[in-house]
Amino acid sequence: MTASNDAMEQLLNLVKQQQAFLEMFVRSWVSDYRSGGRNIFCGKGCRNCCSLAVHTGFAEALAVARQLAQPQADAIEGYALKLRGLVQGISELPQYLRLHRQEIGFCPLLNEAGECSVYAVRPITCRSLISTKESSWCGADFSQLTAADRDAFVASLDRKVVAFPSHYVAVLQESGKEFEEAGAKKMRALLGFAVYGNLGVLVHLILKHGLAEAALKGEAAAAEAIAKAGFDHPLLITVS
Ligand code: SF4
Repeated sequence: MTASNDAMEQLLNLVKQQQAFLEMFVRSWVSDYRSGGRNIFCGKGCRNCCSLAVHTGFAEALAVARQLAQPQADAIEGYALKLRGLVQGISELPQYLRLHRQEIGFCPLLNEAGECSVYAVRPITCRSLISTKESSWCGADFSQLTAADRDAFVASLDRKVVAFPSHYVAVLQESGKEFEEAGAKKMRALLGFAVYGNLGVLVHLILKHGLAEAALKGEAAAAEAIAKAGFDHPLLITVS
């Protein structure tokens, strides 16, 4: 199937609507939760969750790619190449997530002030991660905790709202997943396939390896562009 640029604009418009709707849902949910005397700890300057691996649909990455200035694009490239080396020989998701946090560190889109430099177009994954615990827990390496500390953490969770055993709000993450699935469905309807993967890798492929142009030519061309750049690793990108 050969698609047109209009397909990309339709995907971007959907993402924009989804992100705006999720933003409203998060605000309203947090406000209700706080009005019940409970706390949500996310706020300006808080960035510990930005050391987690961020995975998004293709259109969200395209929205980010379109916003970037050269220094950000360079930072993304450095991140993607480092991650490409890191995942060689890795096939398990938990190991990937742990190594990402330990070896790669913070998202390359954080600016010098420690704020998200693409806040207006940050992906749904970032928007839907809302913490019921202090931000130090968002950066914690649970494998390093003692059993007693882990038990105390688990006992402190608000089991009615969190995606147990994490401290993030379940319904907001579920909502984010639904939006991502709807985005993938739309991409399949327009282009015949969907692409999902690591944000930095996708942005790099769009900026440096023509992934958006290849995607308009079809699934085989997109897969070829990804493979040619050396990012055809199932933990980094899936084309389906
Ligand atoms: S895109 Fe922004 S909010 Fe998301 S991980 Fe990167 S810096 Fe953090």
